[in-house]
Amino acid sequence: MKTISEIRADFPILATKVYGKPLIYFDNGATSQKPEAVINKLNEVYRNYNGNIHRGVHALSDKSSEEYEIAREKVRSFINAEKKEEIVFTSGTTGSINALAFSFGERFINKDDEIIVSTLEHHANIVPWQMLCERKGSKLKVIPVNDNGEIILEEYYKLINQKTRIVAVTQVSNALGVIVPVKEITEAAHSMNIPVLIDGAQGIQHAGTDVRESDFDFYVFSGHKIYGPAGIGVLYGKEKWLSELPPYQGGGDMVDKVTFEKTTYGALPLKFEAGTMNYPSAIGLAAAFDYVLSIGREYISSQEKDLLTYATEILSGIRRVKIFGKSDKKISTISFLIDGIHMYDTGMVLDKLGIAVRTGTHCAQPVMDRMGIDGTVRVSMCFYNTREEIDALGTGIEKVIQMFS
Ligand code: PMP
Repeated sequence: MKTISEIRADFPILATKVYGKPLIYFDNGATSQKPEAVINKLNEVYRNYNGNIHRGVHALSDKSSEEYEIAREKVRSFINAEKKEEIVFTSGTTGSINALAFSFGERFINKDDEIIVSTLEHHANIVPWQMLCERKGSKLKVIPVNDNGEIILEEYYKLINQKTRIVAVTQVSNALGVIVPVKEITEAAHSMNIPVLIDGAQGIQHAGTDVRESDFDFYVFSGHKIYGPAGIGVLYGKEKWLSELPPYQGGGDMVDKVTFEKTTYGALPLKFEAGTMNYPSAIGLAAAFDYVLSIGREYISSQEKDLLTYATEILSGIRRVKIFGKSDKKISTISFLIDGIHMYDTGMVLDKLGIAVRTGTHCAQPVMDRMGIDGTVRVSMCFYNTREEIDALGTGIEKVIQMFS
């Protein structure tokens, strides 16, 4: 078992300074930092075996194709999908949801059909569905949340009906850190044979997932939020669904036979992977999974629970700080405002102290509207953060209050 100092040493950026101050990185919800193992893997691909996948007969192409397919198998195993063919690589969560909304929409959505999302969604799980609704004349229905940002299940049960074609909800609110009852949501949808899409962008980093045990029909996430490279993501879909869906892009590598009269498509998952994929990042993502598994999900989860408890205690103890999304089911993310001080001022002063937080709506305007605010300051922690860093955040917030009083 590594010590926290050893873990931190695995992430070179954590030893850097900003404005001459040691970096305290609390923006893991936006993107996580990368361990040396991932950085080295990208380096290895480009230095040793860069060749376009599934194309050449030469050694470099063979090696990169092999590594790419090994990466697919690692994703399968990490989320416990049944088959490798159910794992489609994309550019990220946004790419996955857009692909699905288009493809599922083409096949299954007609005028007056309904699609259910929740108030908590990131724009990536709202806008593609709205675009589909505009194209097809279908309707978006929204599950409300209470004042703490918790899903009101009774309202969801009222929304779901014979017209519902898909339920698309996040596993965890990126803006508030509140965990969504995806099990109950999935069970209710399945009782009416309606598929569910779970946006795992935040969930995968903290809560992990077992798509088979949870019986999700679709699960999407981005590599960069789980210590992997940017530009790679995953669309998991049960084979029974993916095999029914049309491709969302046409081009090289996704076809079986092309003539000007007719084109037939390749088998799963390649029919959804047109063009040159981001194979170096897929291979890098597999290295990130290996790293996470070497640290251990139990360690990660207990460390993050401790950070959440401690940070909640520290922030709650500061007069004028108001936390949004108070719930006993949360990941290690805290959204707050300081009474009378603009969030951007808070963020800017903290930045000058070397503390990186996110300010704004977090691409989740509807939930900010529901809370009656323009945005928040968000502290999103992960297992490489420490209590000492939280102490520094507390001191930093006191400084902000002093400066603006
Ligand atoms: N959904 C959620 C819940 C997110 O947190 C994010 C990223 N903030 C996204 C979707 C979009 O992810 P990406 O920008 O990597 O496509």
